[in-house]
Amino acid sequence: MTEFHYCWEWRLRSSPERLWPLVADTNRFNRDVGVPDLELGEVRRGGRRLLRLRKLGIPIEWEEEPFEWIEPHRFSVVRRYSKGPVAEMRVAVELIGESAGTFLRYEVWAKPRNALGRVAIPLEIGRSSRARFERAFRRYDRQVQEEPLPREKARLASGGGRRLSAAREVLREQGQPDELVGRLASVLEHADDLTVTRLRPYALADTWGATRRDVLELFLHATRAGLLEFRWDLLCPMCRGPQQSAETLRDVDPHVHCESCAIDFRVEFEHSVELTFRPARAIREVEAREFCVGGPQVTPHIVAQQLLAPGEERTLDPELSPGTYRLRTRDGGEVRQLAVAVGERPTVPIVNDSEDEQLFVLERTAWSDQALGAAEVTALQVFRDLFANEALRPDEPISVGTLTVLFTDLRDSTRFYLEIGDAPAFGSVMDHLDVLRAAVTAEGGAVVKAMGDAIMAVFPRPLAAVQAGRRAQRDLAASPNGGRPFWLKVGIHAGPCIAVTQNERLDYFGSTVNLAARLVDLSSGADLIVSSAITSDPEVADLLGTELSAAPIEATLKGFEDERFEIWSVG
Ligand SMILES: [Zn+2]
Repeated sequence: MTEFHYCWEWRLRSSPERLWPLVADTNRFNRDVGVPDLELGEVRRGGRRLLRLRKLGIPIEWEEEPFEWIEPHRFSVVRRYSKGPVAEMRVAVELIGESAGTFLRYEVWAKPRNALGRVAIPLEIGRSSRARFERAFRRYDRQVQEEPLPREKARLASGGGRRLSAAREVLREQGQPDELVGRLASVLEHADDLTVTRLRPYALADTWGATRRDVLELFLHATRAGLLEFRWDLLCPMCRGPQQSAETLRDVDPHVHCESCAIDFRVEFEHSVELTFRPARAIREVEAREFCVGGPQVTPHIVAQQLLAPGEERTLDPELSPGTYRLRTRDGGEVRQLAVAVGERPTVPIVNDSEDEQLFVLERTAWSDQALGAAEVTALQVFRDLFANEALRPDEPISVGTLTVLFTDLRDSTRFYLEIGDAPAFGSVMDHLDVLRAAVTAEGGAVVKAMGDAIMAVFPRPLAAVQAGRRAQRDLAASPNGGRPFWLKVGIHAGPCIAVTQNERLDYFGSTVNLAARLVDLSSGADLIVSSAITSDPEVADLLGTELSAAPIEATLKGFEDERFEIWSVG
């Protein structure tokens, strides 16, 4: 049977590294060159997926082999058709770095199934695709150089434009920075559908050169103001792709199945739930359509993916930035770990010594720091203030990973009530809670609950908790509002926590929380009582050598009599 072969070459101004996220985003590319949207069929042997589309009324169906790639230099895919005019098609794309940009080579091999295919391939692929592909690549090249976000004429919902203007006003009045509000509005009005269906505040902050915290706060306020909606994406631990999206935490089902990886997993907040945003439906309708589901940018943490026949060997020499990598097979079998130092260019031999074909995956082990984890966002005061009703499903506790938990209590508060009378004492105790709350918020933590004159707060990192504790002690000892000084007892511990909904509020529990609650009793009101989980944290250790010192204390903690803890008084 005849096979048609096309080879197109273009010179682009941008480097392979900068073009890769766009060129290897085959979902975006297929949409941009006018491929109709896909209907997803079953996943078959070795991760091959059955896909369908209709073109000019003709049903086309094929089985797609896993994409192979080495970032940022090449990717390829083979498609075997069971319906339509083509029998088989191979595509290979190569990006070769040059002093002045990239030499891009795009090759297609296509075998016709029938007479229609013999006519259609030269017309449709040979002539028409070439022009459309070139337009798309040139546009990506410009985009990399000039504007960070792909634009299109968006369809705002009926009345969406007016709602957008009104919400902008609200955000300004709330003190959100003008420039960021304008940028967000521009994204909602002009960015393309693929961009706005899954907006990531940290990634946008990086693109805009703004601080991540500011952009996150803007997004939370914009959600409250009706511009955005939450998308709690449940990520598969293997492919890290969103497998399900929920609009509220209550809709998050902790039991998830990933079809591509053929695994069941249980959601935990630290890595497997990412908070992303989409435009509110009253502002802009976004259609989530799929144009390609297997390309390299579907799993951007995978640097290289290769399909090896039984007995086959290959040696890869990918350009790896410093960090740790894992070589594994598709089904999760780990082959080895790889640590890459600055300036190293390791070669990675892969051998398939099994009886079956194997898909080898070389992936970064670190999760993207641009992902906003649910553990992090739910431990933010601004989130808890704006979305007090966000709660988990009843009876479904979720692991949130490591958090730092801080408890406080006022020293001698009983005597204080007796001395000055209940009503005035109550007033000062309430004032003390404001000071505490300000200290916690300033360090990026959140007050989870107040119990009388005690509070529980959580922080993403130990250092923030230590600084908040010191600040609160200092401010309260300096007798706020000219009143009487307070001595604040503080206990801090860090470790794995479980989130649960209690009294309609997101709460945390587990032995980390219990231990932190016990530590507070040992505090004199001038020191922080912390566990070695806090003193051994590198950021805290830096502080202990300079501004603070730590002395070990001997104590048995109620409920923890059988365990040995190192406890420290920090001051
Ligand atoms: Zn998966």
